Amino acid sequence: MVKFCPRCGGLMIPAAREGNKVVLRCIRCGYTEEVSIEEAKRLGYNIAAETPKEERTITTLKVSEAKKKPPKSLEEWEQEREEYREILQELLQEEIEGGEE
Ligand SMILES: [Zn+2]
Repeated sequence: MVKFCPRCGGLMIPAAREGNKVVLRCIRCGYTEEVSIEEAKRLGYNIAAETPKEERTITTLKVSEAKKKPPKSLEEWEQEREEYREILQELLQEEIEGGEE
């Protein structure tokens, strides 16, 4: 059993998780509702236990599901992107320097 949107009756899916809260989002109208993890589990949602390491992977996978609202905060996304850019730059730098030898 899952939760249905009180507005339009659409299916509510977990769109984000903040601490011990889960944000459920209506797939039809985008209505969001915050519930506790316990509540979400009781409703029948399969919410994984808090595993910060895996969260990044889950986040990337969920993006296509919830295009309108990224499950992570924008700040975290920016930070992640910055990290990738630094790694990429380092790799490019190495290639250039190595090639001149
Ligand atoms: Zn709805």
